[in-house]
Amino acid sequence: SEVRPERAAAAPAPKGEVKISSRDRVIFPDSGQTKGALADYYTAIAPAMLPFAANRPLSLVRCPQGRAKKCFFQKHDSGAFGDAVQHVPITEKNGGTEDYLYIENVRGILQCVQMGTIEFHGWGVRSSNVEAPDRMVFDLDPDEGLDFGDVKQAARDIRDRLSDMGLVSFAMLSGGKGVHVVVPLTPDHSWEAHKDFARRFAEALSMAEPERFTATMSKAKRKGKIFIDWLRNQRGSTAVVPYSARARSGATVAVPIGWNELKDMADAHPFSIDDSKLLGDRAESKTLAGWGFAEQSLPDV
Ligand code: ATP
Ligand code: MN
Ligand code: MN
Repeated sequence: SEVRPERAAAAPAPKGEVKISSRDRVIFPDSGQTKGALADYYTAIAPAMLPFAANRPLSLVRCPQGRAKKCFFQKHDSGAFGDAVQHVPITEKNGGTEDYLYIENVRGILQCVQMGTIEFHGWGVRSSNVEAPDRMVFDLDPDEGLDFGDVKQAARDIRDRLSDMGLVSFAMLSGGKGVHVVVPLTPDHSWEAHKDFARRFAEALSMAEPERFTATMSKAKRKGKIFIDWLRNQRGSTAVVPYSARARSGATVAVPIGWNELKDMADAHPFSIDDSKLLGDRAESKTLAGWGFAEQSLPDV
């Protein structure tokens, strides 16, 4: 059989290193970044990303031919990724069990990238106990044409309301259009309680200020408003993981941000995979110390 020359010539990857094929393939055609550049981004950012990406069920956005071609959401472990992509069996609604995937280290991230992954989305739960959620996300989705200033104000208002209930929250720029308000939680409650709290919180906001907020997914009801997408907090739902690249124009990334920095942001996608040095330094900075971590439980409401 035919031996492909690049295969034949390639030295075996050193132990522990993940071989990335087609490093020169351009996967972000409008900004020019390659698969190799994406792998280098993830290698550099892994120390900052792993606290949020490791040991939780993941869904991957894979675009083997680049973001401009066909992309698909992959939830299940097909077994083809490699030794550092682990699986965790999860019972589905229909009673059957499926293997979901999770990673533990940079090798796991890179084995996903090798398979064409651009985005990493995580469940709000650890793979060691998939019935006890530990992260709530309010995904603020503005109607088209809404000013980003309105999104920032909404995020701050949500922070204040959560704070009134004794909950600390953190802001993340999605790398797309909106902001995610992230609430870390001690895993001491059920999915049912998790979802109920998120739904009631979003509904209370939309009832208090119906001209600003909606808690229903309907695009028609979103006119001029922000959809507080609480549906990210149902069992089986995911939210993009901090520091994940986005399969969007410009190779943007989802980025944690301090509340005091948010007001200076012009949009939700100021950073790209070209900024790994800057983002790595930021992750170590005082502004982001402790971002995404808190020991706290849902209040009784
Ligand atoms: P933006 O700020 O542009 O809204 P986003 O990441 O919040 O970016 P959304 O479309 O609001 O994008 O989706 C929120 C989350 O829903 C995503 O981060 C992802 O985890 C999940 N999601 C989106 N599309 C799918 C899909 N096709 N299948 C499963 N989950 C999805
Ligand atoms: Mn969103
Ligand atoms: Mn959404």
